Amino acid sequence: MVDVDARRDEVADLVQTRWGDLLTEIGATVVERDDARLPPPPDLMLATGTTGLQAYSLPREVGGEDADALTWGMALEQIGYRCMDSALPLIMNHQVDIARLICESGRADLIERYAMPLAQGRCGAGIAYTEDADAFSFRTILRRQKNDYVLSGYKSYITGGQMSDFFLTYALDETGDMQACLVQRDDPGVTVTPSEPLGMKTAGAASVTFDNVPLPGDRILAASDGLTHAQRFLSNQRLWIACAPLGRAQAVLDQCAAQLSGTLRYGETVAELKNVQASLGRMYVAVESARAMLYRALIRVTQDRTEPVFDPVVSAAKCFAVEQIRFVLERALNVLGGYGFYGNPHLGRYMRDFSGLTLAAGTQDILEVNLGAGVVARASRPSNLVHA
Ligand SMILES: Cc1cc2nc3c(=O)[nH]c(=O)nc-3n(C[C@H](O)[C@H](O)[C@H](O)COP(=O)(O)OP(=O)(O)OC[C@H]3O[C@@H](n4cnc5c(N)ncnc54)[C@H](O)[C@@H]3O)c2cc1C
Repeated sequence: MVDVDARRDEVADLVQTRWGDLLTEIGATVVERDDARLPPPPDLMLATGTTGLQAYSLPREVGGEDADALTWGMALEQIGYRCMDSALPLIMNHQVDIARLICESGRADLIERYAMPLAQGRCGAGIAYTEDADAFSFRTILRRQKNDYVLSGYKSYITGGQMSDFFLTYALDETGDMQACLVQRDDPGVTVTPSEPLGMKTAGAASVTFDNVPLPGDRILAASDGLTHAQRFLSNQRLWIACAPLGRAQAVLDQCAAQLSGTLRYGETVAELKNVQASLGRMYVAVESARAMLYRALIRVTQDRTEPVFDPVVSAAKCFAVEQIRFVLERALNVLGGYGFYGNPHLGRYMRDFSGLTLAAGTQDILEVNLGAGVVARASRPSNLVHA
């Protein structure tokens, strides 16, 4: 049995000691960068590599520390708690998992050329999967030319795309199978265009166009069943993308309590009003229950007990945690009164930033449909029938 509270305290100390100043520094400029749609500055992104943060959960062969999924999820939670820039952990999640997939390929050439510099913060990368189509109708196409390939298509939204030196992308080949390949930003025919999203404006997101990009054969990361490759990426992302916002929800709850303890109405502090205390209590329930779900899912990943493509507990944890995180922000707006709306620039930004959690790594709707289908499938097995 893992003592999650003790582990959480250890990870909180570790993140504060090793990266606390860096996280504070990145968060300090977030309001101006959010207005200007600018990602964290390059020197600070480099520092996430040189201080070992990017590599923390990666294998030792790329300079990592092999932190397990529970520890990495808790580290992300602490990053979310300490860093006011919601986009930083999102950018890092994507980069870390791209490096991890490259390491898992066992290809020494790709590990040295792409995973190692990524782990060390010396380059950036993004995952270019989404296009305005379902996976079976992708218009991003990989055509064979002798031993090499030509890539054409368009990917609509890539976290960290503006800072990416290479992309992990997915395209259909001439047989209709999906392949995963690595495309460099400086490959001829690659055009990166900054996005203008509703939230996560500091994530440096971009779209990318591939116009007959010549690709050497050694850039193919998965030569068949790229759909499973992409789903493995997305399955882990479901957890990572919720962990940091959970930390931020905890920070918002703490800040509400502090702010309201100093706000006087009718001769007493707002924090002493019973309805406000009940709201804070419900926010506490939301944070604790989301944390319990996420930790349970993280432990399953750590113990290698998950389904690789669609794990019901991981997906349920993402769905539930995202709802609770958004609930905390709504409640915060309610208890903070005008201060939350016009007295402070952060709460509204978090509401915009975290609105996208309902879409990213599988929309809530699709996850719920798949979870429900699993319930039906399990119930229809005769051995599972129980009479009410
Ligand atoms: C913060 C953020 C970061 C992101 N980062 C990246 C990134 O780095 N790389 C990347 O490639 N993409 C990224 N995305 C894109 C994201 O993966 C997609 O937006 C998401 O998968 C939804 O796909 P879509 O936009 O095509 O929606 P659509 O598929 O058009 O969905 C529209 C609606 O239809 C519903 N729907 C669609 N299909 C089904 C179905 N089969 N069953 C039931 N309902 C369905 C959906 O639930 C939704 O309500 C990011 C998105 C966000 C918000």
